[in-house]
Amino acid sequence: MPARRRPRRRRAVAPTPAELARIEAMRALVKAEARDEPGVYRMSSPEGEVIYVGKSKALRTRLLSYFRAEYPKDKGARILRQAATLVWDPLPSEFAALLREMQLIKQLRPRYNVAMKREARAYGFVRLSQGPAPRLQVVRSAGMDETATYYGPFRGAHQLDEAVRALNDVLGLRDCALSTPMHFPDRPDLGPARTRTPGCIRHEIGKCLGPCIGAVVEPGYLEQVRTALAFLEGETETPLDPLRHEMTRASEALDYERAGVWRDKVRSLEALREQFARIRFALESLSFTYRIPSETSETDRTYVIRRGRVRHECPTPRTAKERAALAERITEIMAPIERETTTVPGREVDEVLLVAAWFRKFPKELKRTKPLTP
Ligand code: SF4
Repeated sequence: MPARRRPRRRRAVAPTPAELARIEAMRALVKAEARDEPGVYRMSSPEGEVIYVGKSKALRTRLLSYFRAEYPKDKGARILRQAATLVWDPLPSEFAALLREMQLIKQLRPRYNVAMKREARAYGFVRLSQGPAPRLQVVRSAGMDETATYYGPFRGAHQLDEAVRALNDVLGLRDCALSTPMHFPDRPDLGPARTRTPGCIRHEIGKCLGPCIGAVVEPGYLEQVRTALAFLEGETETPLDPLRHEMTRASEALDYERAGVWRDKVRSLEALREQFARIRFALESLSFTYRIPSETSETDRTYVIRRGRVRHECPTPRTAKERAALAERITEIMAPIERETTTVPGREVDEVLLVAAWFRKFPKELKRTKPLTP
């Protein structure tokens, strides 16, 4: 067998005099003006594109570290080499800097942040798509599709995949590409039905209701989707019943191998439901006001957090009038009834993850929180 050739490494080219001059100008600016305080920073290319957004609780130290990074070994040095300008905004606390960084990344989608996020995917989410035949699917990141509903985040994406596959199979839900055309006999507006499934045998083997060939009416399909969601929210056991039945039948027929396969499916669904229950609990416990002393000014800041999302932020009230205004705002925030579900709107997943990670990392910060009562 011929020896496999190693991919040739691209040789690092030394920075040009123009790049060195830019880097030196940025370093001089940081040395002259940056202070060790919390904040966010942005690096932009010569064309003005923001290529990286970062945050730090000590801006000066963090920014100077870029200039000590070794090129091409360190990512920081590689980003810096692409940058022509470096700007920073001080913020009152590290928490404020984290939130601002997240908002800027969402808004500007700097290419180095996006690439790093892709590398760091460690969680799985269950996504429920929109459209005539919604699809339940495991995805590695959330938030790209703002029309979808995301559940999670969950650890163990592989087990999550297996559990969602078992759920789709038992309820007959589709798992094909979202671009696959769907047809329901009661939805002529979707066009005439195909006569054959497009290269997929799930309908033939009884694992899909066949919305691609008009084999089910729309309400029938949507009812199964609702059952899936009710199961995940811990409201019904229905999807487990046929699996348990098959398990018992196989074991009574002394077919233990087959019984083991059904048992594994039951267990993976039970584990999935358990994970949903844990997330529900975590989201519910992330509802409070959170007061943070400012590191850059006299005024503390208060955040109103409901179900892991920052709904309001203001200087901590000092007078009776300010306290009344905040109480009124909290009443407004609490007014819409939000069911205790595991649902996180796609655009808000990053924020929930950020808030949850913050209090996990700094549990003592919970002492600064107060229940959400007006
Ligand atoms: S049978 Fe049709 S709807 Fe079901 S998964 Fe296959 S292609 Fe999709």
